[in-house]
Amino acid sequence: MIPETAAQVESQLATRGHVLLSPEQQAEEQTWRQQFAQSIRTPQALLAYLQFNQQDCQAMLADEQGFNTLVPTSYAARMQPNNPQDPLLLQVLAQSAEAETHAEFNQDPLAEADYNPAPGVVHKYQGRALLIAAGHCAINCRYCFRRHYPYAEQQRSRAQWQQSLATLAKDEHLAEIILSGGDPLALTNTPLFALLDEIEKLPQIKRLRIHSRLPIVLPARITSALCQRLADSRLQVVLVVHSNHAQEINSEVNAACLRLKQAGVTLLNQTVLLKGINNEVATLCALQQALFSAGILPYYLHLPDHVAGTQHFFVERSEAKQLHQAMQARLPGYLVPRLVKEEPGKAHKTLIN
Ligand SMILES: *Cc1c(COP(=O)(O)O)cnc(C)c1O
Ligand code: SF4
Repeated sequence: MIPETAAQVESQLATRGHVLLSPEQQAEEQTWRQQFAQSIRTPQALLAYLQFNQQDCQAMLADEQGFNTLVPTSYAARMQPNNPQDPLLLQVLAQSAEAETHAEFNQDPLAEADYNPAPGVVHKYQGRALLIAAGHCAINCRYCFRRHYPYAEQQRSRAQWQQSLATLAKDEHLAEIILSGGDPLALTNTPLFALLDEIEKLPQIKRLRIHSRLPIVLPARITSALCQRLADSRLQVVLVVHSNHAQEINSEVNAACLRLKQAGVTLLNQTVLLKGINNEVATLCALQQALFSAGILPYYLHLPDHVAGTQHFFVERSEAKQLHQAMQARLPGYLVPRLVKEEPGKAHKTLIN
């Protein structure tokens, strides 16, 4: 179409990722990028921020095992000062237990390397394919199953994405693209919107799913420019956030989720069951209630994977089943997440219970 009016020119530019931002929108973009840049990047700085004394710091410091500390201040602000057992602190502070090695815990427990048809693509399940859209996150979670992932080998330019997507497009069953990472919302708008443009060009794709922890850990990322872009998409957009504890859900998170809902985005949550953080029925129920208040429905409750360096978070299947049954007894059905385990070689995640 040849644009006739200024509004049409603007909307055509916008659909190509060149969104024209108002001064307020530019300020919003600057705010989250600044917050991201000013994140806490050492265990020392994190413990100092939480007012631990010198002696406690010495006792709590541990080697980061090649996985750097990264915590947005907005997330650290939700931790209790001076509490070594704080459930948010334990998710991001390296502990000496990470250095332990166990035979069953390894670097690629899901064998994702076996399902890599093109760089940046993991295609394991029918109808949906996962793109490693970003090589970094806004927070580094110590239990992460991708903490050993070779992101550097998966980095893609726009032209390379076109190629990977063209390979995927030959699959007639494909209806959904999942952006994962890393964290796709840790990308700035320009590369993110360019990727969305490419995905929207594939006629058989109906849904875009974004897996992101940003709405929880850096809610300032949910800007009006981002919401506008998602609202304008021809695709149905599902955003799966990742929250593990009710203490993560504050008024900023609520406001960000409301903005996403107003943009027509379906909000779901996945949680990882983590020893010492949320393996109590009251904690899990409180999380579901807090999420629902923010407009988020439960999706998955994951059993932890056998990832090297995360043994201290591991919860046994029998304990997980008990917790899940206790949740079913206390919550309405729509607030009970599906308890799942990801197993290599399966056509879908394995439902437990
Ligand atoms: C979890 C996962 C998906 C999505 O599976 P759903 O059950 O649809 O949430 C897709 N691809 C990979 C590689 C996954 O690990
Ligand atoms: S945000 Fe997700 S991908 Fe990133 S470190 Fe945390 S768990 Fe891993």
